[in-house]
Amino acid sequence: MQISGKMNKPDSPKERNLIKGAIRRVFSRSELRRAAMKDCVVPDYHDPSRPRVTKWATCSICKELHPAYKMEIDHSEPVIPPGLTLDDMTWDEVIDRLWCEPYNLKAVCKPCHKIKSKIENFERRRLKRERKNGE
Ligand SMILES: [Zn+2]
Repeated sequence: MQISGKMNKPDSPKERNLIKGAIRRVFSRSELRRAAMKDCVVPDYHDPSRPRVTKWATCSICKELHPAYKMEIDHSEPVIPPGLTLDDMTWDEVIDRLWCEPYNLKAVCKPCHKIKSKIENFERRRLKRERKNGE
C-alpha cells in the first residue's frame, strides 16, 4: 500500500473547510494557545467595579484592559499567508503555521481581532483579483 497525502486529500471545498475548522478547534485547546493566553494576563490587577472578573488582560492592539476570558489569540503572521488560499497549502503547512513560534501569538480583544481579520481578508481578495487579472 502506498500512502500519498496528495491522492487522499479531500478536494471538495466543504470537506476542506470542515477539516480546517477541526484543526483550528484542536489548536484552540492546545498547550501553546493556553500558554499565550496565560502570558497576556496582567498580574494582580483588579477592577473594583467588576469583582467577579479575577483575570484581566491587555489587548496587544488597542492596549486596553479586558476580562481575560473575552480575549482571543491572534496569529500576527496569519496562518494562511495573504497571497495564498487554503487550496494552495498542504495540511502540514497549515498545522505548522498554526502551531507557530510563541512570539507570533498575540492576545487581542474581540473588536480588534475582527478588524484585523477584516483587513487581512480585504488584502486577500485584492491579491486574488490581481492574480486573476494578471493571468
Ligand atoms: Zn483591542
